[in-house]
Amino acid sequence: MNLWRLPLHWKIIIGLILGLLYGILSAAMGWSRFTEDWITPFGDIFLNLLKVIAVPLVLGSLIMGVASLSDVRKLSRIGGRTIAIYILTTTVSVTIGLVMVNLLEPGTGVPQGLQEQLQAAYQTDAESDMERAETARERGPLQVFVDMTPDNIFGALSNNGRMLQVVFFSLLFGIALVLIPSDKSKPLVDFFSGLTSVIIQIVNMIMVVAPIGVFALIAKTINQVARDDLSAVGELLGALGFYCLVVLLGLLIHGIITYPVMLKIFSNMKIGRFFRGIAPAQLLAFSSSSSGATLPVTMDVSQRNLGVSKEVSSFVLPLGATINMDGTALYQAVAAVFIAQALGLGLDMTAQLQIVLTAVLASIGTAAVPGAGIIMLIIILETIGVPAAGIALILGVDRILDMCRTAVNVTGDAAVATSVDAMEKRAANTTAATSSQTA
Ligand code: ASP
Repeated sequence: MNLWRLPLHWKIIIGLILGLLYGILSAAMGWSRFTEDWITPFGDIFLNLLKVIAVPLVLGSLIMGVASLSDVRKLSRIGGRTIAIYILTTTVSVTIGLVMVNLLEPGTGVPQGLQEQLQAAYQTDAESDMERAETARERGPLQVFVDMTPDNIFGALSNNGRMLQVVFFSLLFGIALVLIPSDKSKPLVDFFSGLTSVIIQIVNMIMVVAPIGVFALIAKTINQVARDDLSAVGELLGALGFYCLVVLLGLLIHGIITYPVMLKIFSNMKIGRFFRGIAPAQLLAFSSSSSGATLPVTMDVSQRNLGVSKEVSSFVLPLGATINMDGTALYQAVAAVFIAQALGLGLDMTAQLQIVLTAVLASIGTAAVPGAGIIMLIIILETIGVPAAGIALILGVDRILDMCRTAVNVTGDAAVATSVDAMEKRAANTTAATSSQTA
């Protein structure tokens, strides 16, 4: 068997398994220093390569996406459908999470002693997360829209954390391009089209080293969590295993029921083809815990493996990577109720409904980077009156869950892009059929 000929997702899976084995070996043998010095940098380089193209990709592809929709009516139709489906799927995911956590009650079994131990161990980390959430919470209700509007385009472009501002500016720019005469817009359209092609080519080049990058990223994660003491991880997983299981079960149900049902309703996509096609993006999301860094690959495989048109994918996917996070919303709902249960606080129906609303909004505001979900979780906890310090209970296992929820986040983006694309193609066929009949 020629390893180099294997499909990309198999190579990435091999990198992932080897990274896992190496990480465990490193912790067992006490090699954490060596791993940090000689393995971690390869993961960081790989991630930086993906991050460096995220801003130009969002800028180029969104501007092209909007400009290629050629009229504002088409833009508002695709935009309206996309946002409606994004909000709908996120609401379904939160509901799944809430049903699971209320039925299985993973928090009621946490012994008092363990609760105190976890609170003490993660106190400092929890405090620094709370400070960040405090800044987010102190702002007025409309501040999110103020933050979304850039006051300096170079400021927005120079910070990956301001992706929502880049999205906003690109939409504005794209709409203006559609509205000006075509002799004026053509050079710019050509420029951004060229830019997007160059970035996609860079993605292909980076993906050649993806298995090595994934190997190093997984080894780095295990090294960060376990250091030289593997038994500590075992203890933590033992204590919080049931909670993790509920989150994972919820993510699995959402992944293998909601998306296939949606694809069945809106498109003719075969479920097997969808999951095989999206696998490289899922694996990368799992290894990097960042849907922003995964975006270039999500776009590439959606176009190449799922046949999503450039027009739809360049608009739906960058938007989705920034605002659509089903996995994160589901996790936030389970985590909020778990913490309340562990602290012996009952949550009535109003609080549960508040969770649905705040989790949907919080997931929209969550940045597409590792660990962002837990910061927004603090805001949910404060809304429902649960002490935010409770996040100390779950911080230890957050990275593992982050990997899984990020994989679901990118799956959701691709599933919506496939559905919207199918609807557009159907509409175009109907129009073509009607006009040939009238001709
Ligand atoms: N890491 C997630 C993402 O990038 C966000 C989160 O839930 O922390 O999609």
